[in-house]
Amino acid sequence: MFEKARNHERLAILQAAREADMVPYFRVMESPAKPIVEMEGRSRIMLGGNNYLGLTEDQRVIDGARDALEQYGTGMTGSRLLNGTTRMHLELEAEIAAWMGTEDAIVFTTGNQANVGTLGTILGPGDTVIVDSGDHASILDGCLLSKAKLRPFRHNKLDKLERMLQRAAGDGGGVLVVVDGVFSMEGDLAPLPDICDLCEAYGARLMVDEAHGAGVLGERGAGASELFGVEDRVDLRMGTFSKSLASCGGFVAGKADIIEFLRIQSRTFLFTASAVPAATGAALEALRVVRSADGPPLLRAVQDNARYFRAGLEQRGFAVVEPQRLPDGHPYGADIVTPIIPVLIGDDWQAGLMWKGLYEAGVFVNTALHPAVPPGGALLRTSVMATHDRATLDRALTAFSDVKASFEAEHGALPGPGEHGRRRAA
Ligand code: PMP
Repeated sequence: MFEKARNHERLAILQAAREADMVPYFRVMESPAKPIVEMEGRSRIMLGGNNYLGLTEDQRVIDGARDALEQYGTGMTGSRLLNGTTRMHLELEAEIAAWMGTEDAIVFTTGNQANVGTLGTILGPGDTVIVDSGDHASILDGCLLSKAKLRPFRHNKLDKLERMLQRAAGDGGGVLVVVDGVFSMEGDLAPLPDICDLCEAYGARLMVDEAHGAGVLGERGAGASELFGVEDRVDLRMGTFSKSLASCGGFVAGKADIIEFLRIQSRTFLFTASAVPAATGAALEALRVVRSADGPPLLRAVQDNARYFRAGLEQRGFAVVEPQRLPDGHPYGADIVTPIIPVLIGDDWQAGLMWKGLYEAGVFVNTALHPAVPPGGALLRTSVMATHDRATLDRALTAFSDVKASFEAEHGALPGPGEHGRRRAA
């Protein structure tokens, strides 16, 4: 039974990485999530979070958490269905629906549960669900739980999506397409206008995971669906409080009858405790900041920082993603850079070495290795915040240059500009 835990293929490599103190995971945070954090005894520039607007530090959000703690205590000790719904939940659901421009919204304890509990409930064994191969794990888990027929298509390949829609037409049940609006590792966008066209042509429904889009993209910060002007063509929009909204929890927004069905049927909603009050209070205040006059400047600041940092890495010879094209005449201009800026390294071990060099130079980034990315596609996932100042980003860029120079002197050249796109197309 436990053989797989004791003898799995990654054990030897993990052991070697531990001995070289090169494991990029489970590092210990000693301060709040901020542009510069304390980690394992020293300050490090945080380029490995999802706190895109920096709202974990906002006094209004902190007060929201504290007031909720004082009013409702440390935990609700029960499900939303029974003793876990507060006035904050009702306000949060109403304000999310207003933000997303939908009839209703439902708040879950985590974003992961929002995906699993929505897909596991909406889909049934007779249905077909079509997913992008880059979709978040919780989407896949919800699909598997539902026992619907799963038809994955290659990441962002519209011809493959169309082929799956053609095949699904013969499956005989309802058809749902699920994509991330912004993909969590590569930071690229789903081409939502084309996806909407295809779904409409084939009579399929569409759900968009806005975990990395909500609180980042669009004038209202309502996500990739807003950025692309397709909000009224998307049936269900999922989001989380664990990124721009500076807390923990998740939501799904859509038509009132579907949301009400989830309230009485979704197992991850019914059979788990309501979030701790501080989490709900913080999310509610963070949403209010995003929707206030203070929201748009923060949204602009994170965009500007993303563009600046991506360009800086490219100038220093790193293989970063290209800015993404927007439809002609888009108010944002010709293209956009999301705050997730992956740097392609290629080899897993080399990514570990680069990670360690950066960590020692006082910069924390995330490392994505196979199977999170395709074999040979190891990357360092960097992400910027609205509250990183330019001096901090410049220091991080200098660290990237220095670490690259010493790495290349010993191990040879890293992939350079342009190579990210080429490898992804391959
Ligand atoms: N969807 C995506 C695209 C995500 O990146 C994440 C979090 N990594 C989730 C869903 C799950 O959200 P949460 O962290 O709130 O459980």
